[in-house]
Amino acid sequence: PQAGSLVLEVNKIRKEFGGLVAVNDISFTLNAGQIMGLIGPNGAGKSTTFNLITGVLSATSGQVSFLGQRIDGKPAREISRLGVGRTFQHVQLLPTMTVLENVALGAHLRRNVGVVSAVLHTERRSEAELLHEAAVQLQRVGLGDYLYEEAGNLALGQQRILEIARALASDPLLLLLDEPAAGLRYKEKQELAKVLSQLRSEGMSILLVEHDMDFVMNLTDKLVVMDFGTKLAEGLPKEIQENPAVLEAYLGG
Ligand code: ADP
Ligand code: MG
Repeated sequence: PQAGSLVLEVNKIRKEFGGLVAVNDISFTLNAGQIMGLIGPNGAGKSTTFNLITGVLSATSGQVSFLGQRIDGKPAREISRLGVGRTFQHVQLLPTMTVLENVALGAHLRRNVGVVSAVLHTERRSEAELLHEAAVQLQRVGLGDYLYEEAGNLALGQQRILEIARALASDPLLLLLDEPAAGLRYKEKQELAKVLSQLRSEGMSILLVEHDMDFVMNLTDKLVVMDFGTKLAEGLPKEIQENPAVLEAYLGG
């Protein structure tokens, strides 16, 4: 997509769990080459919003469009194949496999889309090709020196970047990252911010869930603030930082 064009449009998306409205008619848009932060206190509905966009959960109501095409109601696997990559809130690596294998396996699982294409070999790629592409993605995020290290031996900050490399291996146009900076030390956060800025400069669109205000202030182009399932505010990081309702939600509770 062209820089600045509409990549993601979330329109009044809603999710009820029994009597609980976890996501209450949330709307926002994301343009190509932007990093948007989705912030808010614990339980605000951020991860649920991610799960609605990526098809892990089905919405009670509302629409999600990716590059102008409706994706709500589609299975997670198809949404991934259309170009929406993601990481999860808790690290999901295979700790005794190598860094390279973790990325190659992720790419393989994502690409191997079904019986028909497998039989026709349309989506099948050789192991060598997968490993090569995995190595390319790892170099892209600065993990080129760790290809044969066991994933479990990496520092947490490197594991988070490894998960991003794994998401990149499915060749996404949009990346959704759920709290990639949580628990990281200052230096690791800086390293992560550098990787994300670099991806943006390559044209990637990124939607980032984050708790740490400082981290999103310097990195994101736009923020959406959620609280108790609703959208509390939306704007430039500077505007959000001075928004009384946001300060209240963060500090007042
Ligand atoms: P956040 O990521 O902002 O911390 P979540 O999206 O994880 O918030 O959760 C929002 C609300 O929905 C919370 O009250 C949480 O307990 C509830 N919730 C999340 N997932 C489920 C589920 N599968 N079943 C029932 N309630 C859930
Ligand atoms: Mg969450």
